[in-house]
Amino acid sequence: MYFSKKIAVTGGCGFLGVHLCKKLLSMGNEVICIDNCYSSQKRNIYHLLENPRFEFLRHDITFPLYIEVDEIYNLACPASPVHYQRDPVQTIKTCIHGTINMLGLAKRIKAKILQASTSEVYGDPEVHPQPEGYWGRVNPIGIRSCYDEGKRCAETLFFDYHRQHDLDIKIARIFNTYGPMMHPNDGRVVSNFIIQALGNKNITIYGDGNQTRSFCYVDDLIDGLIKLMDSPDAITGPVNLGNPDEITIMELAQKIIKLSGSQSCIEKQPIPLDDPLKRKPDIQLAEKILSWQPSTSLDHGLEQTLLFFKKANDIQIDHSLS
Ligand code: UDP
Ligand code: UDP
Repeated sequence: MYFSKKIAVTGGCGFLGVHLCKKLLSMGNEVICIDNCYSSQKRNIYHLLENPRFEFLRHDITFPLYIEVDEIYNLACPASPVHYQRDPVQTIKTCIHGTINMLGLAKRIKAKILQASTSEVYGDPEVHPQPEGYWGRVNPIGIRSCYDEGKRCAETLFFDYHRQHDLDIKIARIFNTYGPMMHPNDGRVVSNFIIQALGNKNITIYGDGNQTRSFCYVDDLIDGLIKLMDSPDAITGPVNLGNPDEITIMELAQKIIKLSGSQSCIEKQPIPLDDPLKRKPDIQLAEKILSWQPSTSLDHGLEQTLLFFKKANDIQIDHSLS
């Protein structure tokens, strides 16, 4: 039997946030979606606004927030390199001031709180695949550092609040995730390639395309987040959530060209600084303690994502991407 709860989702208008709000509502919960819409669009939640159990609060979590809820999912933070590098100081403020405020809120109301951390805490890793015990290799002063170090510090804050104030915490380290509702202009590889393929524009590969990533379909990821939140108190994480099927960026481009029946050609461009060469989650811990593993194949997930972008012809696509 499932008892409905009052749940806050910060970053609720973002790609993962919208899917999470929708799923939590479908389970019968009340959801307060908190977002300043810095890197997301309010239109993402229009379809949820008519649900009486859904509430939207436009708020920047770097400022204090006083509400009453049972659980907090802390997803607020621009997550794509294009967005988080636009205003790096705001990115790190969101990770640190924002996290302190959400932890302070959780402490006052004795709520359970989950942090959406990231595979970026592993940086450009020397250990492959990455288990949770690996401490990472992160450049502290590079252009990705506002996000990587911000998210690392947020994990530290979570554990300090846990040890010092006995807060009930959960940390998920989220690996590359894709699916419908991705932001069309955030420069992510899956959305870029799909938009380019659908427009028969050149597919922009940064570097030689031999760098790898492992892509998790959004529905699988959301199931993992909810399982982690609902897990026994003793489980704090960090827990890796992602799909361990690794693919090179070149293979991904070819797959998307094939699935979309596109005429696009490959165009190589310089690789961004500190772009990790390899990334693949070790998900043994999630399998063991959450009985979780992704079940959506990359082909099926990409087909769903292609369908979404085909249908979203009212979305303003920035053709300067290609
Ligand atoms: N805070 C908040 N909502 C609350 C409680 C606290 O936003 O319901 C903020 C508060 O403004 C503070 C931060 O969370 O800056 C950390 O709170 P905590 O109680 O841990 O620290 P303190 O207020 O003692 O510095
Ligand atoms: N990438 C690419 N072309 C693009 C966008 C990204 O080749 O149009 C590469 C990027 O350099 C990186 C990988 O794809 O190696 C994943 O990039 P993304 O920004 O999606 O995620 P992250 O680097 O944070 O894993």
